[in-house]
Amino acid sequence: LPTRTPVKAGTATHCPYCALQCGMNVTVDDTVGKTITITPREDIPAGAGGLCQKGWTAGELLTSGERLTTPLLYGRAAGWDEALDFVAGRIRAVQEEHGPNGVAVFGGGGLTNEKAYQLGKFARMVLGTSQIDYNGRFCMSSAAAATNRAFGMDRGLPFPITDLARADAVVLAGGNVAETMPPFVRHLTAMRERGGRLVVIDPRVTATARQADLHLQPTPGTDLALALGLLHIVITEGRVDEDYVAARTSGFDAVRTSAAAWWPERVERITGVPVARMRAAAAILGDADRAAILTGRGAEQHAKGTDTVSAFINLALALGLPGREGSGYGCVTGQGNGQGGREHGQKADQLPGYRRIDDPAARAHVAAVWGIEPEDLPGPGRSAYELLDALGTDGGPRALLLFGSNPVVSAPRAGHIAGRLGSLDLLVVSDLVLSETAALADVVLPTTQWAEEGGTMTNLEGRVLLRRQAVAPPSGARSDLEILRGLAVRLRGAEGFPTDPREVFDELRRASAGGIADYAGITYERIAAETGVFWPCPAEDHPGTPRPFLDRFATPDGRARFVPVEHRPPEEDIDHEYPLYLTTGRVLAHYQSGAQTRRIPALNAAVPGPFVELHPDLAERLRVSPGETLRVVGRRGETEGVARISPGIRPDTVFMPFHWPGVNLLTNPALDPVSRMPEFKVCAVRVERAG
Ligand code: SF4
Repeated sequence: LPTRTPVKAGTATHCPYCALQCGMNVTVDDTVGKTITITPREDIPAGAGGLCQKGWTAGELLTSGERLTTPLLYGRAAGWDEALDFVAGRIRAVQEEHGPNGVAVFGGGGLTNEKAYQLGKFARMVLGTSQIDYNGRFCMSSAAAATNRAFGMDRGLPFPITDLARADAVVLAGGNVAETMPPFVRHLTAMRERGGRLVVIDPRVTATARQADLHLQPTPGTDLALALGLLHIVITEGRVDEDYVAARTSGFDAVRTSAAAWWPERVERITGVPVARMRAAAAILGDADRAAILTGRGAEQHAKGTDTVSAFINLALALGLPGREGSGYGCVTGQGNGQGGREHGQKADQLPGYRRIDDPAARAHVAAVWGIEPEDLPGPGRSAYELLDALGTDGGPRALLLFGSNPVVSAPRAGHIAGRLGSLDLLVVSDLVLSETAALADVVLPTTQWAEEGGTMTNLEGRVLLRRQAVAPPSGARSDLEILRGLAVRLRGAEGFPTDPREVFDELRRASAGGIADYAGITYERIAAETGVFWPCPAEDHPGTPRPFLDRFATPDGRARFVPVEHRPPEEDIDHEYPLYLTTGRVLAHYQSGAQTRRIPALNAAVPGPFVELHPDLAERLRVSPGETLRVVGRRGETEGVARISPGIRPDTVFMPFHWPGVNLLTNPALDPVSRMPEFKVCAVRVERAG
C-alpha cells in the first residue's frame, strides 16, 4: 500500500465528496502503521460539525491499494516523460490533421477552482480548441440556466445555509439530502425544532421525505406541472405578495395569465398529487413569514429542467421570497466543487468569473490576463453530452483529455458513449484509480487527490473554502496542475502554467475581477482567517456577499424576472412495451459514479451493488421476491439489480441508484433546449425476473 507522510498533524481541510464541503481534520499517525484519522471541524457552518459515512471513511482513499502511482501507456507502466511526450506528440498529430478542435477536453465538478481555471485556460490557450465542457453539465445546469434568467446570477444558495434554520417553511423539490449530504438535515431539523415545517416533493418516500411534515409524491417528470398548480393556488387564494412583486420583479402578468390554466384538479390528473395536499403545501408556504424553496437533481435533470426550475422560482417570486433575509430560492448543488467548477472556464460557453465566452468585453478582459489577443480565444463549444456524442465522428474531436470524470458510468446512454470513446485516436484520462473510463484509455495519468494537494473549493452557498494538503502524495502521482504544465511546455513552451495552486488562484482572481463570480478580493489568508469568503468579493477590503440579492438582483434593471413556462410530458413516456417509469438517484454510502466509494470496504459493505426498488403491488404482479435479481430493460439498453421491495415508491415507478455501471445504459440523452441537461430522471422501462 502507498504510505503517507504527514504534512502537519491535524490538518484542517474539507471532505473530498459533496458540495456541502464539510470541514474535517486529517491526522496521520506514524506510530501505528500510518493510520489516517478523520474528525469533523466545528468551524465550518455548512457541515454543522457533522460528517456522513462517506466523510468519516474518506481517509481510506489515501491508502487504497487500488491507487494508481505510475502512468500507463496502452496498459504498460511508463515514465512521466515518456507518457507526456507521447500525449503531446499525438495531440500535435491529431491537430495537424483535424485542426485545433480535433482535440477536446472534459473536466469535472470535483476539481478545485485552480484546476478548473487552468483546464479552461489550457484548452483555449494551448490547444486552441473550443471543445471543452465538464460533467457539471449533467448536474445542476438547469438550475444555473433558470437562476441566470431570473436573477442575472447563478449562485446555488444565494444565502448562507444557516438561514434555513431561521425559516418557517422549506420546500425541497427533488432532493434527498438525508442520504446525499446528511449534515444538511441538521439545518432543517433546527428549523423544525423552532416550529418550521418541511415539505418534500419526491416520487419516493426517501429518508428525507420521512422527516417531512408534508410529502408530495408526483409521477416522475411532472414537477413542472406541480409547481404551476401550486402557483395557481397561491394566486387564487390571494397569497401573492403584491407589494414585493410590484417593487422587485418584472413580468408577473404573463405568468399570472399562464398559471390560470393549471387549476389543481388538472394538475392532480397529471401529477397524481391530491388537490388537498397541494393546497396544504401552498398554505404552509403562504402562512410562513420566512420561507425557502429549494430544488435538487430530481427536479432539474429533465429535458424541461430549466423550465421546471423557473416554475419553482416563479412560485418563490410570487410569494416574495428571493432577496429577503431568511428567505429565498436555492439550488442544492451536488458535486464537491459543483459551484466553483462552473465559474472559472471549464464550461463550453464560459470564461473565468462566470463570463459569457461570446461577450466581447469578457473576451478582451480574459485575453489580457492570459497575454493573448481576444481573437485568439476560441468561441463556444459543444455541451457535455453533445461533445461526448461527437467524439470520433466526421467533424468531431478525434482526441480527448479527460480529468476528474467517469462518463462510461455517469453519462446518459452510457453504452453509446463508451463506443464513442472507443472510436477515438487518442483517449487520455487523469485519475487516481482505474475507473471504468480510465480502463478504456490509451494513456492513464495517475493524479493526486484531495488531502494530498492544496487549492480552493466553492461550496453550495458560494462560500470559497481552503483545501489544505494533509499528507504527501505517493511518489509517482502528480497533480493535474503539474500534468497541464507538462503538456503546455511540450506543446507551446508556454509560460503561464504554474503548479503552485496559490499562484494559479492569484491569476484566477485577476481573471474573475469584474465578472459575476468575482473573486478579486479573496485570498488564501482571508479564507483561512474567516473560514471562507462568499463571492462576489471585488476587493480585499470587501466583506464578501453572503446574500447578493438583498437590495437588487443582478439583472440590468435590478428586478427579478418572472419567466412564463408550460408543462410538457417526459420525452419518453410509458407504453405497452415499457410500462414503468425508471428514475435514478443516490444512496447514503456512495458518491456519483462510485469510482471512489466503491473502493472503500465499509461503504461497499453497506451497499455492495445496484438494486431495483419497486412497490409491493408491482412485485406481486411480477412474482418477485426481495433479493431476487431483476433485469430492467429500456429502449437503449438493459441492466440488472437486486430487488428491494418498498411501499415508499409509486407502483408505476422503479428506482435504481447510479453508482455502478449499468443504469445509465438506459437513461435518456434527450437534452433541455436551454441548459443542454440530459433527461436522467425519467425514462420508460419494463422489469423482468432475470434468468
Ligand atoms: Fe459532508 Fe458531503 Fe462529505 Fe458527507 S459527503 S461528509 S455530507 S461533504
